[in-house]
Amino acid sequence: MASVTFDDVSKRYGEVTAVDDLDLAIADGEFMVLLGPSGCGKTTALRMIAGLEDITEGKLSIGDEIVNDVDPSRRDISMVFQSYALYPHMTVQRNIESPLLVRKYEVDGPGTALRKLSASERAERVAEAARVLDLEPYLKRKPAALSGGQRQRVALARAFVGRPKVFLMDEPLSNLDAKLRAQTRIELVELHARVGTTVVYVTHDQVEAMTMATRVAVMSMGKLQQVGTPQDVYARPVNTFVAQFIGTPPMNCFPGTISASGTEVDIEGGTLPLPAGIQSPPPAGTAVTVGVRPEHLRTADAGSFGVVVRAVEWLGHECLISASVGDATLVVREVGMSSIQPGSALQLAVDASDVHLFDPNTTARID
Ligand code: ATP
Repeated sequence: MASVTFDDVSKRYGEVTAVDDLDLAIADGEFMVLLGPSGCGKTTALRMIAGLEDITEGKLSIGDEIVNDVDPSRRDISMVFQSYALYPHMTVQRNIESPLLVRKYEVDGPGTALRKLSASERAERVAEAARVLDLEPYLKRKPAALSGGQRQRVALARAFVGRPKVFLMDEPLSNLDAKLRAQTRIELVELHARVGTTVVYVTHDQVEAMTMATRVAVMSMGKLQQVGTPQDVYARPVNTFVAQFIGTPPMNCFPGTISASGTEVDIEGGTLPLPAGIQSPPPAGTAVTVGVRPEHLRTADAGSFGVVVRAVEWLGHECLISASVGDATLVVREVGMSSIQPGSALQLAVDASDVHLFDPNTTARID
């Protein structure tokens, strides 16, 4: 097990800056999720840890060792990809064993000569991986005779068998259907709890990040936006990008102005309270971006602002009500079924503890 530290790391491909001055300390044993939209640089960051990409600037360390110039085979890393392609003609046992047949390891301790494992050392490692991943009953089967989830576990076992210091995972669940994805998320969390190896996991799916991460690093356009526990990034997003990337449906963001009294926010159709505990409220008349999550808006007989309903989507356990507030559209989430009709006027209320403010110019959170 080992920590992974990015120290002002950048990666450029000609004109393109894929990763821009990344500063990120991943603790030993942590399950860190790199989260962001396509093209934000998360895979490049992961590939730099693996040694598959050179580093243009900065320092990358695994444990206490700076690894900028360390060969990938010396890094003790295992990587699991989205397409985990097992060998179809080999048994599960052979599939798990396959990296041990081709790779050399520092078997006799850190810094010792790389060598291949003996047959008995390989058998011991395969047995351990099969036990940890609940694959013992399937060792003699071929991949075609396994479910999708079992195949995914074989891919994980194949990564685990090299006893890596760090597991790197690049969207490993995206080929699975929704049910299997949910199940495998739980299995990955359990696996991590059992083996305690540092995991760096790349995804664009915020649900995966929120459910599995000990901490999430949100990235956009090569830049790290925020690092924190899932609770932190949900409750205190540092800017409107993070606010709208975390949570489904995303946080509603719409324009407002600090009221003449300085104690409320005027918006189209009414007023909202200032965020509870705000330290430096902007002066009266300041334009702001107001953020409220759909689950924090509630319908009320005498709410603090009025909207016009555009559409109501019933999803079984909840309803999503889309409504207009001036030129903006916001979404309200209501539990159960709603009798509200499109075209009707609605009063909405929100608690001060659930109001967020952002600077409309910089998009940064105002505290
Ligand atoms: P995705 O989820 O789509 O894989 P990502 O967040 O993992 O996206 P990266 O693959 O890290 O993003 O790419 C970051 C940026 O670097 C993108 O703009 C991409 O086009 C660019 N890039 C990546 N690899 C190369 C390369 N070999 N040459 C030039 N540009 C590259």
